Amino acid sequence: MLLKGIPASPGVAIGKVFILDSEAYTIIRREISERDLPREIARFEDALIQTRQEILGIQERISEQLGIKHAEIFNAHLLVLEDRTLIEDVIARLKKELVCVEYVFDDVLKNYMSAFQKVEDEYLRERVADIRDIGKRILLHLLGKKRETLADIGEKVIVIAYDLSPSDTASLHKKNVIAFATDIGGKTSHTAIMAKALEIPAVVGLKSVTKSVKSGATIIVDGSNGLVITDPDQETLAKYEQAKTKIAEFDASLTHLRDLPCVTRDGHQVHLSANIEIPDEMPSVKSHGANGIGLYRTEFFYLDRVDFPTEEEQYEAYKNVAEKTAPDYVVIRTFDLGGDKFMSQLKIPKEMNPFMGWRAIRFCLARPDIFKVQLRAILRASAHGKLKIMYPMISGVEELREANKLLGEMKDELRRENVPFDQNVETGAMIEVPSAAMTADILAREVDFFSIGTNDLIQYSLAVDRVNEKIAYLYEPAHPAVLRLIKSVIDIGHKTNIWVGMCGEMAGDPVFTLLLLGFGLDEFSTSPVNIPVIKQIIRSVDYKTAQQIANEALTLSTGTEIEEFAARKLRELVPDLQ
Ligand code: PEP
Ligand code: MG
Repeated sequence: MLLKGIPASPGVAIGKVFILDSEAYTIIRREISERDLPREIARFEDALIQTRQEILGIQERISEQLGIKHAEIFNAHLLVLEDRTLIEDVIARLKKELVCVEYVFDDVLKNYMSAFQKVEDEYLRERVADIRDIGKRILLHLLGKKRETLADIGEKVIVIAYDLSPSDTASLHKKNVIAFATDIGGKTSHTAIMAKALEIPAVVGLKSVTKSVKSGATIIVDGSNGLVITDPDQETLAKYEQAKTKIAEFDASLTHLRDLPCVTRDGHQVHLSANIEIPDEMPSVKSHGANGIGLYRTEFFYLDRVDFPTEEEQYEAYKNVAEKTAPDYVVIRTFDLGGDKFMSQLKIPKEMNPFMGWRAIRFCLARPDIFKVQLRAILRASAHGKLKIMYPMISGVEELREANKLLGEMKDELRRENVPFDQNVETGAMIEVPSAAMTADILAREVDFFSIGTNDLIQYSLAVDRVNEKIAYLYEPAHPAVLRLIKSVIDIGHKTNIWVGMCGEMAGDPVFTLLLLGFGLDEFSTSPVNIPVIKQIIRSVDYKTAQQIANEALTLSTGTEIEEFAARKLRELVPDLQ
């Protein structure tokens, strides 16, 4: 069976299905006598100890693979294990009711979760998931069953889930999880972005993949084309084995591009830089041949944690990335919290329209205590390399002025303290809200560069939620409205002498490279895995030809026509592309 979803991260994987959270168990109410009490209590204590060891083991593995930050996600689980109220409640009821401990524990746990679900405090409510998870682990120990988890899967599997959060994705065991596929999600969701960062093929938005596959069955995930094939026959398996080999050969053939400049055949140079979420991606940035970093999504500091990152901690991270990237630049984007990213940790109530809500620069300007710490950390790190500062989700010039004013205050503070920083650090605005695109001439007076965030710009200008798979067909980067906005921002940038980059996913999609190049985009910034192919395209064409193609595209009426036209031109001009 062939299931069609949304391509989230390229590559092909063939392997066995692991359905996340499908483990079923039954709890039977078994009466005990007073004599059995010590044994039941001992079983409970054993289960707690074993669960604790299990969690510590997982933490250790995650820490080795992805760093200590990612391992800290399990601290909340450990706290539940030490919760005296929960433990004492179980023991008291055990003595009173004289039924087996798994039954009592399950009941206490359910009461506990429902109490948490009712509290006002959003942060506490969010902890229900941790309690459920740890509770399940304890129960499985009590029942003598072993729970398979992503972290301790011993063989290579393909994870199938209804949904994975960005932090679930970050904790996937890269060695053993060779691909994943989910029922919901969109191409530019941060889960998809994380999959690319980990270089794991992924398909999202498959609607009912969890119902169409069985644990242990062999499936194929084609992340490049957004396909999942269940029960493949020998012929299909052979075809995809071949495809895998071809992709590997193609990737290997692109490595020679790593040290070559990103320049068209007729000498037009563009900047090709990488997007990163966590500093651990630095080796991948280098190995794929990026010229620096065009987007560092710093809000990933909030992944898997409940406290605020300190100035020192941020300074160390920014300094590290700056030093490793020098003499190339790093564009540090200030916290873009909200939307589908990490607001729950900040105890902020859920909103009806989180993508249009209290997020990004709106949040930072309302919380100068958090924002100023980040600005100081970036400024201090700017003494160690070439950093640029970029503000997300600017919708009008007041926000930009306000952000720059706070930045000025932080500079004054550092001067007074005699702390060195780059006095000429550039600032830029993300152009990802239509009002910003339409007032780019006004914004240009306040900044040194623009970076077009198409992930959001498309969702706002077309009114299409970027993470909703049901309307994914409407999410069209090549919609004439989107292309006109992009072209106009680039033209205004050039008229006002500032450079214009793009850090949305569109910049890494080969189908659109000719159009963006032809519009005169100065910088393409994308996930490291996309870098070689974009460089190959740019190096294979003339700038003049790309300009003609881009102009012709603007005369077409629909996104589909434009995309088909761009794909045809790409095949003609770069026939050896995969
Ligand atoms: C964008 O919106 O295009 C962008 C790069 O930012 P993010 O995906 O983090 O919202
Ligand atoms: Mg954005």
